[in-house]
Amino acid sequence: MSLSPRRDTIAAIATAPGRGGVGVVRLSGADLGALASQLAGKPLQPRHAHYVDFRDGGGELIDQGLALYFPGPRSFTGEDVLELQGHGGPVVMQMLLRRCLELGARLAEPGEFTRRAFLNDKLDLAQAESVADLIDAGSEAAARSALRSLAGAFSGQINVLVQRLIDLRMLVEATLDFPEEDIDFLEAADARGKLTAIAAQLQTVLGTARQGSLLREGMHVVLIGQPNVGKSSLMNALAGDEVAIVTDIAGTTRDTVRELIQLDGVPMHIIDTAGLRETDDTVEKIGIARTWQAVEKADLALLLIDSREGITEHDRVILARLPDALPRLHVFNKIDLTGETLGQGEEDGHPVLRLSAKAGLGLDALRAKLLEMVGWGGSDAGVFLARERHLDAIRRADQHLVTAAAVWQQVELFAEELRLAQLALSSITGEFSADDLLGEIFSRFCIGK
Ligand code: GDP
Ligand code: ZN
Repeated sequence: MSLSPRRDTIAAIATAPGRGGVGVVRLSGADLGALASQLAGKPLQPRHAHYVDFRDGGGELIDQGLALYFPGPRSFTGEDVLELQGHGGPVVMQMLLRRCLELGARLAEPGEFTRRAFLNDKLDLAQAESVADLIDAGSEAAARSALRSLAGAFSGQINVLVQRLIDLRMLVEATLDFPEEDIDFLEAADARGKLTAIAAQLQTVLGTARQGSLLREGMHVVLIGQPNVGKSSLMNALAGDEVAIVTDIAGTTRDTVRELIQLDGVPMHIIDTAGLRETDDTVEKIGIARTWQAVEKADLALLLIDSREGITEHDRVILARLPDALPRLHVFNKIDLTGETLGQGEEDGHPVLRLSAKAGLGLDALRAKLLEMVGWGGSDAGVFLARERHLDAIRRADQHLVTAAAVWQQVELFAEELRLAQLALSSITGEFSADDLLGEIFSRFCIGK
């Protein structure tokens, strides 16, 4: 990154709004030494906890608490950082923050501390993103994975791939100077073998990143089923507590199905199709259009069927409108009433499960099936949290590698595809710049030789 960081002093309340035992105001800037002494009423020793009086401009006591001073570059942002810990009440925190602003700080923008950490090379882009993902994590598995990304597990794998691409590019670009022997040279150096190995490693990283993305984004399941087949009962049973309302009266539960539950730490978003019907009502039409948009992006459709009735005509109407590629799971509910046994099978190429939501039979099998169908690997061990942006970048890189393999005998095109693959991957960590690459080439290769 060649953007030069802004060096003015920023301040913000770092703890969550509301009341808490302790609240923290954080500051970051180029030179906080003087401001730190002013706020604390005495000089602060780096990385020591000082118990101090925080006072306003008139010398009136605001609070008593701890002041910690981290001179740059050994700090989160790489700049001087000051942390003021006071009593965690909204009014006290506001007074403390106002005092910081009086002394010359300005209010930080959202994410500005992390952005400064990135600009000062304390974190790369993927790590910076994982700070937000860790804070937003909706399950323990997601939190553990975000922490792995923050610690550099994901960036590390991307960096290894980028380095291997750079090595290959150096090889290919060197041959550009000797057009008469370029292809022989590339064969001798096993350029294609190296490319194949990189592509294979890319697939491995993509696999892990997809797991991480699943943890972050969750699976999106379209729920189809007539009134009273047991949709709410099933979602409640899967969620493990009573949230949706279960009732005997057909039609009364139209969208009480909760939106989000967790399956082994993987969020499951439910897209309820209960409201999908022909209508002239404008508002309802908008809702229906939105539901169809969600359906387009879904991972799978779950058709819930009352075992006593089988698939109905209404179900078929909805099914016919689903995207062909959307995987489907047919679940026959209420087997406690039909005397059927639990079981799994297949019907018209779709997996089928028999269970009873009310009796709690077959739910583990359903959980396992749903997770299997969206490609969950079974545990978050070794998984790093990833975003759709990262998956896109990896897929783009992969596409360039595929093209590279096809055009390798046209050395200039080969070189260009490798460059584009590297560019795509580097966008994940945000570290790429053309100058970096040139420096790398010059330092390790003697072109004029
Ligand atoms: P929804 O309209 O599809 O959401 O269906 P509900 O979950 O509201 O359930 C409708 C009725 O079916 C309720 O009385 C439930 O108790 C009942 N029900 C749901 N699942 C089962 C089941 O597995 N067995 C039996 N016997 N009844 C069930
Ligand atoms: Zn319902």
